Amino acid sequence: MDRHHVIIIGAGIVGVSCAHQLIQRGSRVTLIEAGPGPGVQGATAAGMGHIVVNDGEPEILKLCLRGREMWRQLLDENVGDRGYWNTGTLWLAEDEEQMHGLEGARDRLHSAGVDSHTVQASELFDLEPALNRDLAGGLRIPHDGVVYAPKVTARLLSQTTEVESRFGTRVTRVGDGLVTLEDGTEMKADAVVIASGISLLDNLAGEEDSPWKQNLKILPREGHLAITARGTGILRHHVVEAGYQKGAHGVVEEAVACAILPRPTDQLCLGSSRRPGRAGAVDPGVLKKVIDRCERFVPGVRRLPILRSWTGARAATMDGKPLIGPVPGWNRTWLVGGFEGLGITQAPAAAELLAQRIHAETCTLDAGPWDPGRMPALSAGGRSD
Ligand SMILES: Cc1cc2nc3c(=O)[nH]c(=O)nc-3n(C[C@H](O)[C@H](O)[C@H](O)COP(=O)(O)OP(=O)(O)OC[C@H]3O[C@@H](n4cnc5c(N)ncnc54)[C@H](O)[C@@H]3O)c2cc1C
Repeated sequence: MDRHHVIIIGAGIVGVSCAHQLIQRGSRVTLIEAGPGPGVQGATAAGMGHIVVNDGEPEILKLCLRGREMWRQLLDENVGDRGYWNTGTLWLAEDEEQMHGLEGARDRLHSAGVDSHTVQASELFDLEPALNRDLAGGLRIPHDGVVYAPKVTARLLSQTTEVESRFGTRVTRVGDGLVTLEDGTEMKADAVVIASGISLLDNLAGEEDSPWKQNLKILPREGHLAITARGTGILRHHVVEAGYQKGAHGVVEEAVACAILPRPTDQLCLGSSRRPGRAGAVDPGVLKKVIDRCERFVPGVRRLPILRSWTGARAATMDGKPLIGPVPGWNRTWLVGGFEGLGITQAPAAAELLAQRIHAETCTLDAGPWDPGRMPALSAGGRSD
């Protein structure tokens, strides 16, 4: 009998994670990517790389927690930009009210089994001497970390033997178990996995008028980031302001918040912004706001030399939850996307869930919340990196 064959569209961190999980279950995998290599374009190339478990919706927390656990198993710890750098996250409170909010987050995280502890102002500066002295305190989540997503994606693929990778090849149409390439070639498979990021729903054949497609859209949420020169690594933790979550839920307005990620290359990645409905070039005004916000928490950061700044588009769904499951009404074509600002964290867990469903195994996590056929929520949402 022929081996179970899966075509995966998209070699970002999610598509490659799916390849890894499916090969482990004995599938034959063909990976089709429009770009010249794995993880070199799309959100994987643009993201920060914070592996984060934070207070929020319980199902999303479980997906992040499983993702973080899997990254820590998959990658060697603290081995530069090809491993898992266990920086921890430090959420920063500007005043007592925010500190109170972080205490509530700590209690909810504890009940979900996540190690975390609050840090008083005096201890905060022992942990991170570069922080502003007027902060009220923080919440430390010690097992969060940092990965360099393009490198980790390439590494995972190189370790996943037997994948047939076709780079520089664009898919133009997807049917149920059927893929058409831009040169007109048609390919059939036992299963097709669409992991094409922001264009997740673009090529589905004959689905334009389906009610589920009208309601389950993929919306871009632009983010601005900048990277400092080497020798500027003045932080050990990934530091984020406590108010960050508010901006992450925004629908219409622009939101800017301090999120600074230390890289093992002795650099800092400065972020971040959110502008719903767009994905454009770097806007110097928005970038200045991002850096000013970082300056509020880490004085002097705006004087560090910036090597590069860029934007990326987070792929958000209407209800803020990813899509992991079959195209509604189809049996052989599966969606895995819509991770907004958490796709690097969640990629292995989402891939595991998808592979378990394709192979009709018992699932580690509940698949229900992510099913593309779920009742669409009509108010837009979304969540953060
Ligand atoms: C500014 C920013 C900061 C972020 N920070 C974080 C963070 O700190 N932590 C975190 O967990 N997440 C973060 N994210 C989110 C994370 O980067 C994404 O959720 C994740 O990378 C999505 O991966 P993906 O593989 O689904 O999509 P992508 O990386 O976009 O990959 C999709 C791939 O599909 C290919 N493709 C598309 N269409 C076709 C086609 N028709 N034919 C063939 N190939 C096709 C593309 O070329 C691309 O390579 C951030 C995102 C942004 C934009």
